[in-house]
Amino acid sequence: MRLLLIFSFLTSLVCAEIGYNGKSVLITLPSPSGILSTHDLNISVLAHPTDKNRGIAILPIDYYASAGDSNITWIAPGKRVSIPLSIKIASYPIETLSVDPAKVTPPPEALERIERERSQAKAIYEHFTPIRYWDRAFIKPLDSNITSEYGSARTYNGTLQSYHGGVDLRARTPIAVHATNGGIVVLAEDRYYSGGTIIIDHGEGLYSCYFHLSRYEVKVGDYVHQGDTIALSGDTGRITGPHLHFGFMVHGIQTDPLDLIEKINALFIPQKEDWK
Ligand SMILES: [Zn+2]
Repeated sequence: MRLLLIFSFLTSLVCAEIGYNGKSVLITLPSPSGILSTHDLNISVLAHPTDKNRGIAILPIDYYASAGDSNITWIAPGKRVSIPLSIKIASYPIETLSVDPAKVTPPPEALERIERERSQAKAIYEHFTPIRYWDRAFIKPLDSNITSEYGSARTYNGTLQSYHGGVDLRARTPIAVHATNGGIVVLAEDRYYSGGTIIIDHGEGLYSCYFHLSRYEVKVGDYVHQGDTIALSGDTGRITGPHLHFGFMVHGIQTDPLDLIEKINALFIPQKEDWK
């Protein structure tokens, strides 16, 4: 009976969650411990950045996830709490693009390079660094208009079907690109599709990505502070014109960067009861 009461109490402290494909669900938990378990992911519960008594878990929902209801489980010492999760399908725009044909049907000699870059990126994104380098609210890497949103369903040259894995920011001429938050540079090199590329590890499974760069101002292993100039934008890789592509990976899954930033940044805004 007592266990049942404790269970009911804990259940009442976590709410049912709604998620959309391609976006993240930020779950606040009554203590900063344990893991959150879904049918295909085990996610560490992290410290809430401004409330030491609570925890958070950042659950990315894959772009190709299907709509439906399921349960996720918060497992912590002495606790096992089921949280209902309802996944809905977001409405994303459709885009038709024309690019260099070699970036749609790569020549045979490029295939090995593409595969090497793909597996290298996968290994980076799936590595969990148990240190928090993101110590404040995230910023946009440059102050400019969005020219293509995350999630657009894309057709390249009338054949290749894909989706846009980040957000494009206008940068017609090379301009300074800033680190969205603190972190360690884990990749700074030219790649077949993304051109001049920088990846920053912010710790705790969060990686920001900057594509199509024309010049690097940092190297692998460098620690960067938020706002540091890390590169100049450019027009390298699979592009229709010069711009900055800004992406985010969370626990190995590509997610809408601006949606993620908005949700994390809300944790840094004092709640009403803190204003007393
Ligand atoms: Zn892009």
